[in-house]
Amino acid sequence: MIFSDKYIDYSSKTRKELRQALILFSLLSNKLIVKIGHYLLKITLTLHLPVLFIIKKTIFKHFCGGENISESREKIRDLGAHNIQTILDYSVEGKNDIKILENTYKEILKNLDEGNKNSLIPFSVFKFTGLARFDLLKKINEKKQLNESEQDELKILKKRLDNICQKAQNIKIPILIDAEESWIQDAIDELTEELMTKYNKSDVIVFHTIQLYRWDKLKYIKDLHNKAKSKKFKLGLKLVRGAYMEKESIWAKNNNKKCFIHQTKENCDQDYNAAAKYCINNIKDMGLCFGTHNEESTHLILQLMKQKRIENNDKRIYFSQLLGMSDNISYYLAYFNYNVAKYVPYGPIREVIPYLIRRVEENSAITSQTKSEIKRLKKALKKKA
Ligand SMILES: Cc1cc2nc3c(=O)[nH]c(=O)nc-3n(C[C@H](O)[C@H](O)[C@H](O)COP(=O)(O)OP(=O)(O)OC[C@H]3O[C@@H](n4cnc5c(N)ncnc54)[C@H](O)[C@@H]3O)c2cc1C
Repeated sequence: MIFSDKYIDYSSKTRKELRQALILFSLLSNKLIVKIGHYLLKITLTLHLPVLFIIKKTIFKHFCGGENISESREKIRDLGAHNIQTILDYSVEGKNDIKILENTYKEILKNLDEGNKNSLIPFSVFKFTGLARFDLLKKINEKKQLNESEQDELKILKKRLDNICQKAQNIKIPILIDAEESWIQDAIDELTEELMTKYNKSDVIVFHTIQLYRWDKLKYIKDLHNKAKSKKFKLGLKLVRGAYMEKESIWAKNNNKKCFIHQTKENCDQDYNAAAKYCINNIKDMGLCFGTHNEESTHLILQLMKQKRIENNDKRIYFSQLLGMSDNISYYLAYFNYNVAKYVPYGPIREVIPYLIRRVEENSAITSQTKSEIKRLKKALKKKA
């Protein structure tokens, strides 16, 4: 482990809370239990089983801030007391219902208002699929002719994007735009580039997300940088590896297309680190957010910052991890005064279940991280005895 546990402060957690977290991670480290749990979470969604209160007290409590902004404030304060900021992430995703999309749009505006009131919130974030129907984005991606009602939908989407970015600019809270599946990502890239061209003239307001598990994205960053220089706007970039690996390979197979994902994890890591290096070398043109739990990449970025004599708390560079994961990295960065913010998902519990399913899958896949989490929690419990 590169980042020591010793900077994590569990003093605000009770023995009961630590024990609950330990039980949760012990369950997540057991593949059979995860399989059953995954299945139960899915049937909870379809059969409307009355077990939401159990989920709320366990897995939801660990990985989410609350069901709404006001419920999430305690978590924001708690993190803030340790020099860790919060990126509130309204995690209702993949909905095609026009009313829900409108509601998500309004929530993003509320989220910006909260950032305006609270200095512990440095960014807002949204997903395109929170604002527009997936099938519309897919059709735009495929460059198919939109019918009249779809053209209206696109107009509404553009208006929403513009209102969000305008507000973000007025109150100076930059906005992160998440990356999604490759079969809608070209559409997201194009619309996000338009927003960056318009809103990133002097400050970086709009941050695009780049998934380096794709073999085409390192070149994309360099091309985009050239475009930004010639059109005279700044680049806002959140660098991630990518969350849809399994889905991507299934999609490529089913559609007889070449898969966008690197063939090996090593290649993905190489591209992530090369992208980090390229961006830090060109920091004068950029604002950066490194969304990663990878210790080697984080360590490399710290070294690159040192080499370039960039101050730890230089406002152009942020690090971000998901709530409930890799606290050793977040607390280390906060202790040494780097800018670090946790993604704090929130939303009605039933709507957040797909997000929780992804966390369950991820934590059972990366057994080494889950094991370190268990070790940490056991140590903390012993100290409290
Ligand atoms: C703050 C934050 C914001 C995020 N935002 C987004 C977002 O907008 N869009 C998005 O898609 N994801 C997002 N993610 C998730 C992210 O993409 C990763 O899935 C997750 O962080 C794990 O990657 P890692 O860098 O932490 O490191 P690691 O745990 O070292 O890497 C795991 C990742 O490596 C990649 N990988 C694993 N095996 C292979 C292989 N054989 N070949 C190629 N690649 C492989 C996959 O991307 C996998 O998730 C975000 C993560 C964080 C922390």
